[in-house]
Amino acid sequence: MVNVARIPNWINGQNSLPESNAWLDKFNPHSGELLCHAADSSAADAKLAIVAASNAFPGWSELTPVKRGQILFDIVNLMKQRSGELAECIAVETGKPPQDAKGEVGGAILQAEYFASEGMRLYGRSLSSGTPGKYSHTIRQPRGVAGLIVPANTPIANIAWKTFPALICGNSVVMKASEDSPRIAYIFAQLTKDAGLPDGVFNVIQGRGQPAGAALVEDPQVTVISFTGSTGVGRWIAEVGGRRLARVSLELGGKNPFVVCDDADLDQAVHWAILSAFSNAGQRCAAGSRILVFKEIYEEFRDLFVTKAKSLKLGVDAVCDLGPVINKRQQQNIIAAIEKSKTEGGRVLCGGTAPSDPKLAKGYYVQPTIIEGLQPSAALSCEEVFGPVVTLHPVDNLADALRLANSTEYGLTAAIHTRNVDRAMWFAQRVKAGVANINLGTFGSEPHMPFGGFGASGNGTREPGIEALDVYSELKNISFFTRSNMI
Ligand code: NAD
Repeated sequence: MVNVARIPNWINGQNSLPESNAWLDKFNPHSGELLCHAADSSAADAKLAIVAASNAFPGWSELTPVKRGQILFDIVNLMKQRSGELAECIAVETGKPPQDAKGEVGGAILQAEYFASEGMRLYGRSLSSGTPGKYSHTIRQPRGVAGLIVPANTPIANIAWKTFPALICGNSVVMKASEDSPRIAYIFAQLTKDAGLPDGVFNVIQGRGQPAGAALVEDPQVTVISFTGSTGVGRWIAEVGGRRLARVSLELGGKNPFVVCDDADLDQAVHWAILSAFSNAGQRCAAGSRILVFKEIYEEFRDLFVTKAKSLKLGVDAVCDLGPVINKRQQQNIIAAIEKSKTEGGRVLCGGTAPSDPKLAKGYYVQPTIIEGLQPSAALSCEEVFGPVVTLHPVDNLADALRLANSTEYGLTAAIHTRNVDRAMWFAQRVKAGVANINLGTFGSEPHMPFGGFGASGNGTREPGIEALDVYSELKNISFFTRSNMI
């Protein structure tokens, strides 16, 4: 692993120290020990990166998409070669067990491969015309400097998710790394240089959302902003970016419903409910954090689900199911939300606190927590917690399940478990969600599938999938006229 106690910005292919020489502390979520310091960048630092990206843009955008794709494939190959180093870094920075970190790197590589190969498929359309002799076609053109802002929950996947479509379309990039996962962004930046990406095409700014991330949102040279993070920040970005007519793509929060019908395969339903609620310690925008169960099987499902949740192992070893949450503030927020739910009638069926195991005492752990008895309007029933906490709600029938599923402001993912195809399709058609899964978890998509949410989960864009190209490129319609009298 690259050993840098201080993680600087990466601008124009080299380290760049923050102008104020201010640094943020980054702690190991498992041990609570200081891991490193990351540049606490100012708006002026961000501007340096924007200028570098702007200067690199003409050269990068002039390359053919096929050539850009070849360079991106060189990055993919290095990611494969260094996948162990990448996974180790993620495991330490986020506290996720090693198999999860490895899986995430694999997902990021798939994402990268998919968009690198788009270099040979950056197709337009050929169009018919009402004018004799006139021919038209569309082409995709890059937008300029892309400001990419990411969270820490799946850091290398988040980086790949935005970087590769932005680059294949011919944009240059300033990435605002998460303050909770600074090193992986730095390692990735170095790797792009080693793979031959020209200096200035990919830059990284470390630091806090305000001022470092906000500087990207406010700068007129940043023509496309892609943000993954909380809905509150997303709203601000939509306002500020919208005022200057930047293209803004928002991937925001979720409070995703998981429905269990009375004809479901209960073992499968429990298996997927556990993964949906607790994988990555519940720090997933797509986490299944509300489980809606037909009343006929409510108690049977609940008892199986609680038994399984109690058997999950916390820690950072390969035998563990989930690690800590990302930082102490987040651990405290989650436990406070659980405490508040008790005052609203919530009954904690398991978990509810940090674990008592002394080996985990210094880490930011929260036990897998299941709560029942809350009204659908209670805070924990409708607000995102971003931790291993799930609420259980009995429902009378499918219409009742749909009503509850659609009762929050979010609309990211949803799942239903049933053996009845009529029920499954009725629900999937009507649920307010960008992703609807049948007999699966509330998981996102594969690299070639569009992902994004209805309502407060986004602003209507979809990344990844071919739809991501619409975020990162402009369409131009070119027409030409041939004179038939010249023949
Ligand atoms: P966050 O909104 O606090 O921060 C996300 C990123 O935005 C960080 O890099 C942060 O520094 C930056 N930021 C914060 N304020 C900013 C501002 N004013 N201007 C510019 N940048 C700013 O979110 P978080 O707590 O780090 O991440 C968890 C959230 O992300 C959850 O709501 C989760 O649902 C969401 N998320 C969504 C998806 C998705 O695809 N829909 C995926 C993962 C996470």
